[in-house]
Amino acid sequence: MVKKIDEIEIQAVHDRDLKNILDSLGISPRIDDGSLLCRSCLQPISWDNIGAIYILGEEAILCCNLADCLEFIKGLRENA
Ligand SMILES: [Zn+2]
Repeated sequence: MVKKIDEIEIQAVHDRDLKNILDSLGISPRIDDGSLLCRSCLQPISWDNIGAIYILGEEAILCCNLADCLEFIKGLRENA
């Protein structure tokens, strides 16, 4: 069964501007060098497995594309 994932994050991931967004947040270098970890499962986030980005105030929370991790981010949004 395919889980329905929150549309906003997924759009961002597939948007060609994603890298620009991450550049402006200063996050891109940390993806390039593998030092950015999924907030949920703590595996390194790469350009291939980035699943969602959630901006909380001045902090960008990223997670990988595992269904559990996307659910984690979705929970953050709903509880904000
Ligand atoms: Zn994850």
